Amino acid sequence: MALLEILEFPDPRLRTVASPIKNVDGRIASMADSMLETMYDAPGIGLAAPQIGLLNRVIVMDCVKEEDATPEPMVLINPEITGSSDALNVHEEGCLSIPDQFAEVERPAEVKVRWLGLDGKTLEETFEGLWATCVQHEIDHLNGKLFIDYLKPLRRQMITRKMQKLKRERARGD
Ligand SMILES: [Zn+2]
Repeated sequence: MALLEILEFPDPRLRTVASPIKNVDGRIASMADSMLETMYDAPGIGLAAPQIGLLNRVIVMDCVKEEDATPEPMVLINPEITGSSDALNVHEEGCLSIPDQFAEVERPAEVKVRWLGLDGKTLEETFEGLWATCVQHEIDHLNGKLFIDYLKPLRRQMITRKMQKLKRERARGD
């Protein structure tokens, strides 16, 4: 397995709607393994396939943050939100594709999600707390949406300009 390169905003692939997986096979399992490895290495708590340039509807996550707790890696294929709580929650979000930028985003506190597991079977679960934030953030990636889209225009422009500058500096080799 190899670590994958994480695309950074602004990259047009991060704005593309990803296509559903038709057959859950070994190729998906090894892609999910590499995605998890890349996510843990970053380190991050979630990663969506478009962030590594694969425009497929696959996300991985593990929101267990305590140092000595058992990891809980999850792979969600074709995830769909099937229900959201009226109650909202504000979490500070960041994104591996928008390094070093953080902002508070308001989202439903609980969401019900349906997806396919690596065995091709349908699963459904209600997520809350950090897991709820993370799964919504990652599903947004599959629709070409980023957490900065929830911010006020001025803040979004500020982050966009910072990222564009960073990219130019890197391209020049500064
Ligand atoms: Zn993200």
